[in-house]
Amino acid sequence: AVFARIAATDGTVQAFLTLNEEQARAEARRYDDKYVQGEGIGALAGIPAGIKDNIITEGLRTTCASRFLDNFVPVHDAFVSRKLKEAGVITAGKLNMDEFAMGGSNENSAYQVTRNPWDVERVPGGSSGGSAAAVAAGQVPFSLGSDTGGSIRQPASYCGIVGLKPTYGLVSRFGLVAFASSLDQIGPLTRTVEDSALVLQAIAGHDAMDSTSANVDIPDYTAALQGDVRGLRIGVPKEYMGEGVDPKVKQAVLDALKTFESLGATWEEVSLPHTEYAVAAYYLLASSEASSNLSRFDGVRYGVRAENPDNLIDLYFKSRSEGFGSEVKRRIMLGTYALSSGYYDAYYLKAQKVRTLIKQDFDQAFQKYDLLIGPTAPTTAFKIGEQINNPLQMYMNDILTIPVSLAGVPAISVPCGMADGLPVGLQIIGKPFDESAVLRAAHLFE
Ligand code: GLN
Repeated sequence: AVFARIAATDGTVQAFLTLNEEQARAEARRYDDKYVQGEGIGALAGIPAGIKDNIITEGLRTTCASRFLDNFVPVHDAFVSRKLKEAGVITAGKLNMDEFAMGGSNENSAYQVTRNPWDVERVPGGSSGGSAAAVAAGQVPFSLGSDTGGSIRQPASYCGIVGLKPTYGLVSRFGLVAFASSLDQIGPLTRTVEDSALVLQAIAGHDAMDSTSANVDIPDYTAALQGDVRGLRIGVPKEYMGEGVDPKVKQAVLDALKTFESLGATWEEVSLPHTEYAVAAYYLLASSEASSNLSRFDGVRYGVRAENPDNLIDLYFKSRSEGFGSEVKRRIMLGTYALSSGYYDAYYLKAQKVRTLIKQDFDQAFQKYDLLIGPTAPTTAFKIGEQINNPLQMYMNDILTIPVSLAGVPAISVPCGMADGLPVGLQIIGKPFDESAVLRAAHLFE
């Protein structure tokens, strides 16, 4: 059914970069047999899923939507790919994204522009746009994405589905092609909050192969959905309801807050005063880390190698010139500049200090509130082509998701209404490792 649905819709939606049909059918038969024979099978046995193409999958091409990795077939699984297999999930295929997860519209893919199933003239968001569109179009019941500055939450918001960015460290990054290692997190994109809890359960947990993986007890996330929100204290950051936010998006969020009130929660305005510096700090830090992480793509070790180089330096130069798209080059140049001697203190170091101030904003707010709630993105999905020539405008779409990433705290985007026929996402932000509270609130609201 999944492959029939993909065949019927993907000509338009263009979510998949690689299909895993033969292998998937074989696995499905294997689970069938096991089940018939009464053998133990995993919690998600036989459930098909799509995986963002920056998460490596053994024997299945992984491109990061880059020409550079056009021919890259990993020899082992990412931690999460292995975890999904252990739970019985069948990989349907790999999903489109902005190249190396840099972007917010999927227009930076070297292969195709994924379309928003709600309006195919519009972007699905990004960078996990393929992951969001595939779920919204009913191609797969869930997918995995990655979120560095909003890349799970923003496309979930634009596509009217549920997207969870876990606390930094809860899900291992082993086998996630690194963009900005201090920010990257893998998480589920699903149709319901219950599904989000089930998938998180399968992928969370300590991993010795990721030095930033947290060694914490993993609660039962589905059980956590049971409680209520009576007495819950919600803070609404006033900076998230400011001028740049579409009034119809604001209205949908205010309506959601009324629902929370009717369920016994209380809310009031709170200030996260350093919000206005978050986008600038993020683009310095993320680009700096990217410039370092992407130095491994040299035409020697991975992927596509340029033909007929004059010498070794020329091999690097040609491979990188041909392999990377313009947004990736822009970030490598910006990051290299920010890290260079003489500029380091003025840019990278200062951005790190700003990051600390932003984190302190959240620490303070969470002394008083259990959850922070606001919109996921300032607008609904925009038209394809509308912002691609204006990187600064594009960067501002992440203004409400980036602070959460810099602070490392968990947040979910859950659909909270419509504006002019397009879905609006509600962002529910929690304390570190309190995914349970985030999921419970989102579930009650859903
Ligand atoms: N849109 C943001 C960027 O371009 C966030 C990307 C992400 O979270 N991977 O960096």
